[in-house]
Amino acid sequence: MTALLEVEDLRVAYGKIEAVKGISFTVDAGQVVTLIGTNGAGKTTTLRTLSGLLKPLSGRILFEGKPLTSIPAHKIVSLGIAHSPEGRHIFPRLTITENLLLGAYLRNDKAGIEKDVQRAYDLFPILGERRKQAAGTLSGGEQQMLAMGRALMSQPKLLMLDEPSMGLSPIMMQKIMETIVELKAAGTTILLVEQNAQAALSLADQGHVMEVGKIVLSGAGSDLLHDESVRKAYLGED
Ligand code: ATP
Repeated sequence: MTALLEVEDLRVAYGKIEAVKGISFTVDAGQVVTLIGTNGAGKTTTLRTLSGLLKPLSGRILFEGKPLTSIPAHKIVSLGIAHSPEGRHIFPRLTITENLLLGAYLRNDKAGIEKDVQRAYDLFPILGERRKQAAGTLSGGEQQMLAMGRALMSQPKLLMLDEPSMGLSPIMMQKIMETIVELKAAGTTILLVEQNAQAALSLADQGHVMEVGKIVLSGAGSDLLHDESVRKAYLGED
């Protein structure tokens, strides 16, 4: 079976600064795969490259076996890759419903779209309660939920989440992580970038530890969670 996503020896630079220095990994359909690592490790750069927002220096990205590297960002969405970016990027003046509908801009199945809006409200009831409110009035955690809900509106084959737990209270973070588990149970394939290694590894099938642009360790989420070097470096243990 070919993987849904295959990344081979990917290198990405900002001018002379090489942020991603030859990484390789795969994501199989139905899996949750996480990239963890400290600030500046290259995780966000990797997701932005997969979305077509950055051009790689070299390497291959295959989605369903086909190369992605020369495809523009808007076409990549239509192939089935959705990106919930770091810092959320919701539209603050638009309502919650309008933000969700923007995620479905490539679809024209009205009934299906309505069903998926309802599904976002089922996943995140607070969004349903506030549906007519301007999105900018939501709390940080609620905006994060909206960004995830909006990414799901394109019915992606691959959902990429960049630091969904960033800046959230422990309760909100728990809610986001539970939602990821629910989405996985419903068959969604997820590539999750997280600084919260404990949370990400607890739910991921596969994890990759990034340090200064390289993957330094890979393994099953549960194995990495118990790996001594990971515990020392990322889980704050002595
Ligand atoms: P964080 O968790 O802090 O977002 P990250 O692992 O996602 O970290 P990246 O944001 O991918 O890391 O950054 C990787 C490297 O690239 C860092 O050294 C960063 O300073 C650099 N970098 C990121 N964006 C730019 C940019 N637009 N121009 C120049 N350098 C950049």
